[in-house]
Amino acid sequence: MRAIASLLRPTRERGPYLSLLFLASRTWVGLCYLGLLVGLLTAAGTLAVGVGLAILVLVLLAARACIAFEREIGRSWLGVELRPMSSPWSSGGSLWQRSLALFRDGTTWKGIAYLLLQLPLGAIALAILSACLCAAVGLAAAPLLYVLDAGPTGGPGVYSSLWLEGGPTTLDPIRLAALAVLVPAGAAVAVGTLHLAAAGGRAWGRLAEGLLGLSVAQVQLGTAQAEAAAEHARAERSEQSRRELIVNVSHELRTPIASIRGHVESLLDGRGAPSEAERQHYLEVVAREAERLGFLVDDLLAVARADAGELTLHLAPVALDEVVEHVHAALAPIARSDRQVTLVRTPAPPLPPARADRDRLGQVLMNLVRNAILYTPEGGMVAIELSQSPDGRLALAVEDTGVGIPPGDLERIFERFYRTDASRSRSTGGFGLGLSISRELVEAMGGTMTVESEPGRGSRFTVHLLEA
Ligand code: ADP
Repeated sequence: MRAIASLLRPTRERGPYLSLLFLASRTWVGLCYLGLLVGLLTAAGTLAVGVGLAILVLVLLAARACIAFEREIGRSWLGVELRPMSSPWSSGGSLWQRSLALFRDGTTWKGIAYLLLQLPLGAIALAILSACLCAAVGLAAAPLLYVLDAGPTGGPGVYSSLWLEGGPTTLDPIRLAALAVLVPAGAAVAVGTLHLAAAGGRAWGRLAEGLLGLSVAQVQLGTAQAEAAAEHARAERSEQSRRELIVNVSHELRTPIASIRGHVESLLDGRGAPSEAERQHYLEVVAREAERLGFLVDDLLAVARADAGELTLHLAPVALDEVVEHVHAALAPIARSDRQVTLVRTPAPPLPPARADRDRLGQVLMNLVRNAILYTPEGGMVAIELSQSPDGRLALAVEDTGVGIPPGDLERIFERFYRTDASRSRSTGGFGLGLSISRELVEAMGGTMTVESEPGRGSRFTVHLLEA
């Protein structure tokens, strides 16, 4: 039963009918492609006169269009997966160079061979399929032919031998049984034709796969070349950023080192010994600059780790209110005592945990709050706020009433070593690394960091994280 079902399967599927149509149409399509052969021969014949080259380019371009058409037909009618074509014509250069590339391109010539094969192979396929279909129709229609052949008068005909001697009204039962067998035989031939068409379609598909696109080796070579080019570009970018890093670091180191050296020299200077108050001030400056240098080294280590791909995160569900609590407890007293800035936490509804690295997130929040305190004038306010956006992401925002950021600087502050003018004029500012490191960390956690700001009114940095 199952064998019969599988034998009859082509009758229920669309593919064999499409293959049948495809194979039957090949001869006529192949006839059109003969024009290309005529064009090629004309080009070869007129090459000496000079116009041959122009004709050749036109023929090759027409062939590429026909190949593209055949690829489309192959994909949609035969369901074949075709490898890509090279595109020498659109790959740049002068008209002459592109024509030459088209001429040298193997895929064009393989495609032309496929186009020219359509006529002979199509004619063979058409002959076989026509014979099969004629046999199927002839056998299936035999009883009808028999009746027609007998005619109203029962006159002699091809099938007249089936009648008994007595005349057209008396049928030979054995012969009639033989006649009845012809109908299923016709149906069987029809089903066989569909099988044949499906097999022919598959074979044609293999031919198209072989001739209508790059070879496997060419595809592998192309992929390897693209990977090598990407690797080269990556190496160049990394070399460039390494050079920039060295220049920036040297530049950033110079100021604190010069300051430390100047103050230490003043302290060591034998002539005109500084007063106790001056000495105290010099030592404070030295200590502050040394602390800044320490921060720079920490930041540089973080940058180097990120660049080397050694940024290992321990992602786990993190209760954001605990992180906020920790940072608030650490920085609120300093904000009040050092800068007379109030640090508050806005009450938040109970929120689900976020997917994050707890320590790194603490580092990010610490950096945002430190910046907010630093760039907020005395008496100002900094708020840490937690919420959940409608798309389900968790938002951790730090808002201040500080100097704000000019619109032109809003995206640039995330670049390494970028500082706004307001920050450059301060001796206490950082090195412009904190935000770039923070954004990298947040993105590594699968989140995003955004900023909104209005100069003179304040800024709001928001970290969006996924729910754990
Ligand atoms: P820095 O260590 O210099 O603060 P960041 O990368 O953290 O470096 O910040 C880059 C620049 O962004 C800062 O120099 C400052 O100009 C600006 N900036 C950051 N946070 C704020 C803020 N809350 N208000 C105003 N400007 C800010």
